Amino acid sequence: MSDCLFCKIVNREIPGSIVYEDDHVLAFNDINPQAPTHVLVIPRKHISTLDDLDEGEAQIVGMTMVRASQIARTLQLNSEGYRLVVNHGEAAGQTVFHIHFHLLGGRNLPGSHRNRLRCRSRAGSRTTCRTCGRSRRRRALPRRISC
Ligand code: 5GP
Ligand code: ZN
Repeated sequence: MSDCLFCKIVNREIPGSIVYEDDHVLAFNDINPQAPTHVLVIPRKHISTLDDLDEGEAQIVGMTMVRASQIARTLQLNSEGYRLVVNHGEAAGQTVFHIHFHLLGGRNLPGSHRNRLRCRSRAGSRTTCRTCGRSRRRRALPRRISC
């Protein structure tokens, strides 16, 4: 699609910091990373949103996800954990209307039980992790880590 930003990266009309490509999938670093690793993994084919997907595209989108998991392994994110996110529509924060997976990792991500156990403002008080059920005292960490 001629006016799509990500199609322009696919077609090399604008530069992208590409980390992986094959016949169907392209992956490049996000220009405004939200984590130490923030890679966008996209199908080369232009599909605007999840709403525009049809069953014929199941293989291409499935392959995009498989590639994302392989990239995560290559970047050694798999043992600590990572997040794979698709935003659909403006309320979810979609700003580029070419389907993409955000691959985020390299730190404890918001909502993870590690962050819930480390709230600085209540450091020292007891908390129970909603994910694993463990009870322990909150530890203080630098302010920029949220929970
Ligand atoms: P969305 O908000 O649609 O889920 O994600 C779009 C992502 O594309 C954002 O994280 C944004 O930082 C990223 N982005 C926007 N423009 C560019 C660009 O020109 N190059 C790259 N590499 N990423 C971009
Ligand atoms: Zn596109």
